[in-house]
Amino acid sequence: MRILHVASELFPLVKTGGLADVMGSLPPALANRGLDVRVLLPGLPGVLAGVVGLKPVMQIGPVFGAAVVTLCVARLPDSGLPVYVIDAPFLYRREGNPYVGPDGHDWSDNHRRFGLLGWVAAHLASGELDSEWAPDIVHAHDWHAGLASAYIVQNPGLKTPTVFTIHNLAFRGIFPMECHHDLGLPMRKLTPHGIEFHGKISFLKAGLVYSSKITTVSPNYAREICTPEFGCGLDGVLRDRGGDLSGILNGVDYSVWNPADAKIAVPYTVDNPEGKKACKAALQTEFGLSTDARGPLFAVVSRLTSQKGMDLLLAALPELLRDGAQLIVLGTGEGDLEAGFRYAASVNPGNVAVYIGYDEEMSHRFMAGADVLLVPSRFEPCGLTQLYALRYGTLPLVRRVGGLADTVIDINDESLAADRATGFVFDDAARHALGARIRDACEFFRNQDAWGRVQRRGMRQNFSWDDSAAHYEELYRSL
Ligand code: ADP
Repeated sequence: MRILHVASELFPLVKTGGLADVMGSLPPALANRGLDVRVLLPGLPGVLAGVVGLKPVMQIGPVFGAAVVTLCVARLPDSGLPVYVIDAPFLYRREGNPYVGPDGHDWSDNHRRFGLLGWVAAHLASGELDSEWAPDIVHAHDWHAGLASAYIVQNPGLKTPTVFTIHNLAFRGIFPMECHHDLGLPMRKLTPHGIEFHGKISFLKAGLVYSSKITTVSPNYAREICTPEFGCGLDGVLRDRGGDLSGILNGVDYSVWNPADAKIAVPYTVDNPEGKKACKAALQTEFGLSTDARGPLFAVVSRLTSQKGMDLLLAALPELLRDGAQLIVLGTGEGDLEAGFRYAASVNPGNVAVYIGYDEEMSHRFMAGADVLLVPSRFEPCGLTQLYALRYGTLPLVRRVGGLADTVIDINDESLAADRATGFVFDDAARHALGARIRDACEFFRNQDAWGRVQRRGMRQNFSWDDSAAHYEELYRSL
């Protein structure tokens, strides 16, 4: 079975969030099950620089406003999987964030840049671009690849089934209606039953309407997005497609996220966890935090946005600091939240430290050095950092929402007695609820025996890709 995965980012080539982690590990996990898997990526600078043995397959341009468009094939660096790369220098050879220009605004031609991605996927499916390989199924990820299914159904002779995975429904890929002139989509698709969304075009909606099957990245989020509260205005469409919608939990690549990793101060394992203390001291020292604090070290590794509940955390900070705990933050995002965390660090030297930026290796040091990882999201499709934290013996403190609810078992008398608890869970997206659970964590930290038991249980949890890949394979076979 030949599967083409279509996406805009893939770890380690280009990463802005969890989508890249999934793209870096799901296709190889499927290939390990014997599927013939290839990936299609836009030729962003990180992709061109990171793939191995790039060679042209077909000269395509000019299309989508680019004079030169070449479809190339190469291999991914670690897994060696074949990857198609769309080399369109005018559209993709731009440094920095793949979606946003240096002025902080989305690139004004994003509809062309990602329209082309879906269009090439459809033409690969038709067999026109590579005479040696065409997919049996096209699996597109997030709005960037949303038009793939729309272009496939546009060709009545093309019967390739499609799967569309929602990694975050909030990013709907919305563009002015006039953009359709650049996309070559027929007028009949521009209706409320098609890709029209409140007078505009939504690439994500194209994925929802035209794909054979829709998945999202946790079972709980699959239920939530069918409600007005979490549906981002698309819950009606999702309810209509309810029979074709399912949730498949993301996995973790434990070869990347592993406390035995030499990149942290002192590697450790569940049977020999001593190194974690040294990792904590090293992290505190690196960031100028005092090493004799009474309370736990809370950490954040996240986009600093209101989706991630970072405003709630800033508001709950007095509760956190009250019991002698510390906070360390790694993230970038909304300007006022970045400023808020910077200010918090400046007025709490020794107890709050902040690194505004994106740093992959540092994120591992945070996972290893922290006692608690905070993920107080307003919504969270799956969430990966809480899964990484579990493996590093760092207790997650999360809101009961989306994939967080599916993956963290709250510490309470019952779950402790049953040996099931893995972290702290709270319900309301409110400062008081978060603050109260933070205080509970500080209290629980005083009982180091009980803490150690929960830590070890967390480290033994298995969220590897094996199960999830089996579910995707089952879905492909159903098509
Ligand atoms: P989302 O995709 O919504 O941002 P996820 O939890 O699914 O959230 O995935 C986030 C990924 O990005 C994780 O791998 C996390 O470690 C990483 N990450 C987020 N912010 C940073 C940062 N500032 N530096 C390094 N890694 C980060």
